[in-house]
Amino acid sequence: MTINFEKLGLKEVINASGRMTILGVSKVSENVLTAQRFGGEHFFEMSQLAIQTGAYLAKLLKVEDAQIVSSASAGIAQSVAALIGAGDLYHAYHPYTDKINKREIILPKGHNVDYGTPVEVMVEQGGGQVIEAGYANMCGPDHLEMMITEKTAAILYIKSHHTVQKSMLTVAETATVAKAHKIPLIVDAAAEEDLFKYIQAGADLVIYSGAKAMEGPSAGLVIGKKEYIEWIRLQGKGIGRAMKIGKDNILGFTQAVEDYLVHGSEAGSEMKARMLPFIADLNEISDLSAEVVQDGAGRDIYRASVKVSGEKNAKQVIEELKEKDPAVYTREYQANNGIIEFDVRSVNQSEMTKIVNRLKEIM
Ligand SMILES: *Cc1c(COP(=O)(O)O)cnc(C)c1O
Repeated sequence: MTINFEKLGLKEVINASGRMTILGVSKVSENVLTAQRFGGEHFFEMSQLAIQTGAYLAKLLKVEDAQIVSSASAGIAQSVAALIGAGDLYHAYHPYTDKINKREIILPKGHNVDYGTPVEVMVEQGGGQVIEAGYANMCGPDHLEMMITEKTAAILYIKSHHTVQKSMLTVAETATVAKAHKIPLIVDAAAEEDLFKYIQAGADLVIYSGAKAMEGPSAGLVIGKKEYIEWIRLQGKGIGRAMKIGKDNILGFTQAVEDYLVHGSEAGSEMKARMLPFIADLNEISDLSAEVVQDGAGRDIYRASVKVSGEKNAKQVIEELKEKDPAVYTREYQANNGIIEFDVRSVNQSEMTKIVNRLKEIM
């Protein structure tokens, strides 16, 4: 018997929360599954598979080189290790050695966030030591510049909705500081949609998560300067071994990037159009009032924002939605304000109907 929910005693999940690690992030396309299957059914010279898929993606993305890694987190740790070790094999074998003391990674304080794990933990795994620049609510080029010493190995910039957005320097401004001091700049753009912008803005390495915007299988991507990418590959002999990615996912992810460049993400206008009947149905339910809102960080993502009034509060409704099978997971960030958000990027029409029916029972 093949794998299914019942056999393993698992609930089916409707994911109206967005691209969340706790739910498995994304569903992959048929095309990606075919590529994963091809990977699963063949052997490869693995070092060549890494180099050739990297070269293929580098050409598509108009960069010097690229390396597929197991996750964006692995990309952060290995990029940090690569820039500290600078291609030295002794360092790859002794990543935390006292013999190397150029380990400082400068990070704007407002970028030192927890995306499921703190950015700092990944930097330290790579042997880096976080030096915060600026303050909780601001960081400009001067704040960054004053933290540079001869121990600085790299500057790390986190481009994300998780970070402080106001009074923060841009990637281009950061790159200007980095270049003036000949220090490499790493940009973690894990969940971002634009695969070109940050390299164009002057970053030396840019990191993406495979299953977020690109909806690939579990993977990560680092693109940028050829020499630095080679240093990242060297980490496979060291800390990278604990972050190995399988051949099936290397090929599935390569396909996902190619498809993403052709089709892109669903446009916000399409999300709005798909949500219209859903919003109308929700507004028929007593004590619920629904409207369409744009993503708080201004991305081209639209969600149903549902205000809960009456006997039950938003938190109770959110918990009850998770109880039955299929379990419905929503975005919970606004629950304290009595609002439940539904992200429909991974929700189809029949699942929306199931959500409406479930809410009718609950309310
Ligand atoms: C999701 C995320 C990561 C980690 O991505 P994984 O591929 O899950 O390791 C890193 N940084 C930011 C800003 C993220 O949003």
